[in-house]
Amino acid sequence: MRIRAARITPFRLALVRALATSHGEVDLREGALLTLVGDSGIEGYGEATPIAGFGLESASRCREALSSLAASLVGKEVGEEVGKELGKELGPIEGHLRDAGASAPDAPVARAALDCALHDLVAKARGLPLARLLRKGSGGALPSVLPVNALVSGNTPGEVAASGRAALAEGHHTLKLKVGARSLADDEARVAALRRAIGAEPRLRLDANGGWGETLAREALDRLSSFDIELLEQPVAASDLDALARLRAQSGIALAADESAVVEAAALEVVARRAADVVVIKPSAAGGLAPAARVAAAALDAGLGIVVTSLLDGAIAVAAALHFAASIRPDEVEPRASGLATGGLFEQDLARLPRVRAGSLALPPGPGLGVAPDPRALAALACGPTREIRG
Ligand SMILES: [Mg+2]
Repeated sequence: MRIRAARITPFRLALVRALATSHGEVDLREGALLTLVGDSGIEGYGEATPIAGFGLESASRCREALSSLAASLVGKEVGEEVGKELGKELGPIEGHLRDAGASAPDAPVARAALDCALHDLVAKARGLPLARLLRKGSGGALPSVLPVNALVSGNTPGEVAASGRAALAEGHHTLKLKVGARSLADDEARVAALRRAIGAEPRLRLDANGGWGETLAREALDRLSSFDIELLEQPVAASDLDALARLRAQSGIALAADESAVVEAAALEVVARRAADVVVIKPSAAGGLAPAARVAAAALDAGLGIVVTSLLDGAIAVAAALHFAASIRPDEVEPRASGLATGGLFEQDLARLPRVRAGSLALPPGPGLGVAPDPRALAALACGPTREIRG
């Protein structure tokens, strides 16, 4: 199959409510949808919705890189015949992804969109779910649903407890609370109230977003260890791997690297230094599904855990991350809830994903991603003309 054409549509996603993130306050996400059209008429989709920082490109650099990467692919062979049996190798697309890495090393989010669209195209040509393609023929049945975590919020212990009870009532089993933005005494009171409200059973994870120095982090890990915490993300600043590694050696709570492990090279560095117990993998930020799989394989080889999350991006990227999470074999790693229940944060999304039910998201059925952009939604969300590239 050859790539006959490419389309790039810039879009904006408005958040229902502004969200405080480690990149600052976010109320709007700007990205671009890539459509690759095979000569058989099959379309593959990829989404690039960058957040500048931690090694990721700006929205304008992302669009520029996506245009040149897509233009260089039009007319090229992706090598897969419709219905061809699943083999070990993905063939020419691995070469295209290497070329993209060489020509746009500074634009991992644009490369992730290209990587996703190529995988979607090939999986559809073979009539396979994307997660099955990513397993490269190994492993048993795919999971039909994947557990996701709920983000609980609140300033006071009472508010946090109420938010936790609401998440439980929706069927969630893993809850996540942000810490590190208040005094340690306040955070301790919030965590205590949440654990009391939800009982002993649900998993509770914390995320400090790099908000502590090493000394305070050590004290926090000590004081919070009695609340049966599943893991704590990013206790110290992204760049301070030495401190993260020292804390890991002493902590009674499993530590996860998130901001320290955004792009592929940074994540591999965390793994090589065993600086955390768990690596947070965002396929959109790692440069795509192929690099995310390399990070996952390295982490598993090193005996570390992984958690898959979105980059606060739209439904196409979330669907890709869901397939990635489903491609991880449960016999290889203890499955942990993914951070992919973000669709409800947007007023309108690119496509309709299944809703979160009983704390899980269903893997979209059908070949490829199993979701396609909704043309009416895309028309409403577009913030500029679609660029069409033909061979
Ligand atoms: Mg985090």
